[in-house]
Amino acid sequence: MDHVSTEMQLAKGIQIFQAALKSKFYAEKNAGITRPESIEQWERLPVLTRAEIYERSYPQTTDMLTQPLEDAIIISTGGSSGIARYTTYTHGEWDAFVECQAAAMRILGITRQDRVANLFIAGHFWPSFLGLHDCIKRLGAVHLPISANIPIEEVVKLCLQFEPTVMVSLPTLFVFMADMAKRDGFSFNGLRMINYAGEHLSTAAEAHVASALGVSRIKAGAYTSADVGIMGYQCDHVKPGVYHVPTAFQFVELINFDEGRRARTGEPGEVVVTNLSRVSTPIIRYRVGDVATWVGEPCPCGDRNPLLKLGGRAGQDFKLGGGFISLEVFESCIALHPDSLSLNFQLEIEDVGSQFTVVLRVEAPAQVEPVVLAALEKELFEAVPELRISAEKGYLRAFDIEIVALGKLSRSPITGKVARLVDRRVL
Ligand SMILES: [Zn+2]
Repeated sequence: MDHVSTEMQLAKGIQIFQAALKSKFYAEKNAGITRPESIEQWERLPVLTRAEIYERSYPQTTDMLTQPLEDAIIISTGGSSGIARYTTYTHGEWDAFVECQAAAMRILGITRQDRVANLFIAGHFWPSFLGLHDCIKRLGAVHLPISANIPIEEVVKLCLQFEPTVMVSLPTLFVFMADMAKRDGFSFNGLRMINYAGEHLSTAAEAHVASALGVSRIKAGAYTSADVGIMGYQCDHVKPGVYHVPTAFQFVELINFDEGRRARTGEPGEVVVTNLSRVSTPIIRYRVGDVATWVGEPCPCGDRNPLLKLGGRAGQDFKLGGGFISLEVFESCIALHPDSLSLNFQLEIEDVGSQFTVVLRVEAPAQVEPVVLAALEKELFEAVPELRISAEKGYLRAFDIEIVALGKLSRSPITGKVARLVDRRVL
């Protein structure tokens, strides 16, 4: 992967800044701001928010475009949160995006001999299926465009028939396939790598997928946002959650917004990204909503692109009874019952008068013994003191665990993700 210096990134960033002024949106946003000439001036440019992208992109307006809408692809970026944002790439910019993504997959060791099962959902402007198609083409590998639009039984049947060596999809789907493999006793000959994207894969889920599908190499495809494309890629030397930044493609800054300065090496900061290849809809200093840390050490692989460690998406934790709780605590408790319960689950919290109710829905391959449910409830009340305290104080009106069949938790029709948290409280 190409490496460029911060000076070069700044120079390219300034070109994008200049070109962006042709759009109504940036002409307004940057009115009165002189062209930045140094990194200090660059860091004083206003950040771009998610709401701005939502409100000013096509089809709402054409305000972010620097050119007429032609020779382009429009993709959706925000399917899982319920509100779709759309963003426009020229076909040339799209090619630059998939070129960078393909380079990341090449580094993971996907070759021309691989048969790659594309298990993303297509449609609704969601770019994953199409993007992977273009990546596989660039890698010269064999594309199995199975998709996840079809019933899972068909997916399994086609994978058994065509024997992919690599499967690419969301963690939700891999957990589901692993649950089925365990229940129905099938395995995939020749499968050597799983490449996931779009969601976090917990340690417990990774272990489950590895053992049930019999694959040891499980890799995050990349750190990507549809708004800007790939922001990080992995090599064989990095730990989970650590990514090389493709400096020729993205200018990534980590900013400490509390103190209004860039984060020091080893100190968490919010990811702010400028895409260096996109001029038709410039993305300048976009506040992605992730927290990360510069590792500050060279990687043994020899790649000079710097390493950042991702600290999780803001908003994965939620507030309950005065404390912040991580969904991973719920997952860890569910993972104590691997023979009875899937790791695909959903937590729903709702206000009822001055109280609230909590429902935990968990997929399971068969009927679950009452003793398992009782044990899980006990473990959750021990692991999450806020549940116990809320119950004691009378705030928690009801806590229920509901079991649903494998694959039956509602999925986003756009991405196929299960919403882990459905918070219906009026905050
Ligand atoms: Zn490396």
